[in-house]
Amino acid sequence: MKLRVIGFWGGFPAVNEATSGYLLEEGNYRMLIDCGSAVLSKLQETIAIEELDSVILSHYHHDHIADIGPLQFARHVLSFIKEVRTPLPIYGHTLDRNAFDKLTYKEATKGLKYEPNESLTLGPFTITFLKTIHPVPCFAMRITNGHSTVVYTADSSYQDEFITFSKGADLLISESSFYSNQDGTNAGHMTSVEAANIAEKAGVKHLLLTHLPHYGDHEMLVKDAKDYFKGQVTLARTGFEWCEL
Ligand SMILES: [Zn+2]
Ligand SMILES: [Zn+2]
Repeated sequence: MKLRVIGFWGGFPAVNEATSGYLLEEGNYRMLIDCGSAVLSKLQETIAIEELDSVILSHYHHDHIADIGPLQFARHVLSFIKEVRTPLPIYGHTLDRNAFDKLTYKEATKGLKYEPNESLTLGPFTITFLKTIHPVPCFAMRITNGHSTVVYTADSSYQDEFITFSKGADLLISESSFYSNQDGTNAGHMTSVEAANIAEKAGVKHLLLTHLPHYGDHEMLVKDAKDYFKGQVTLARTGFEWCEL
C-alpha cells in the first residue's frame, strides 16, 4: 500500500499546488481520496486520469471536491479517445442529497453512497468511517489492506473519538489547519498539537500533518507536534510518498 500526497492546502490552492487530494495504491488499484482544486492537474504528474479506479470523498466543501466536475468531463472525453472503463465510481455520503446527486455525470462517473456505520470494501481496501466535527457532514476514514492501516481525519475539530478510531495506525493523515496558539474548535479544525495528541494516545507510527494554513511558518506545526508525539512527524508536501513497510 502506497499513499501519495497530491494536494495538501486548506481552503484554496497555492501557486502550482492543490488542496486536499491523496492517492492510495495497492497493486494496480488506485483510489483517490478527496478531489480538491488543482488535484486533477497534480494527479497527472503521477498517473493518467484513466488509471483511477475509484474516488472517495470525505465531505462536500470546495477544497475537497472542486475538481470533481473537471474529472467527470475528463472521463467523459477520454471515453471517446481512449480505452477507459466507465463509469468511474465516486463514493460520498448522502447527508447532502443535492451534492451527492452531482457525483453522477452521463456515463462517465457514478455517485455511490457509503453508509457511515458500515464498512466499505473497494478493491483491496476496507474502509470504516467516523463522523467528524465540522460545519457540514464530514467523515474520517480508516483504511486497511489487511496488513497496514492508514487513517485520514478529513476536516474536523478535536474529538476524543479520533483516538480509538486511529488506534495502532501505521499512518495518521491529520488535518492541522491551525497553530498551537490558536483555537480551531469553532471553525471545525485542529491544531498540530491536537493532531499530535491523537497520534500519541492512539500509538500511531507516523503522523502526516496536512490541510495546511496559508500563513505562518509550517515548521512550527511540526516543532509543536513533536513536543507531544514521539513518533515520526512529516509535513505534507506535493509528491510526498508513504509506503507500507
Ligand atoms: Zn471542510
Ligand atoms: Zn477542507
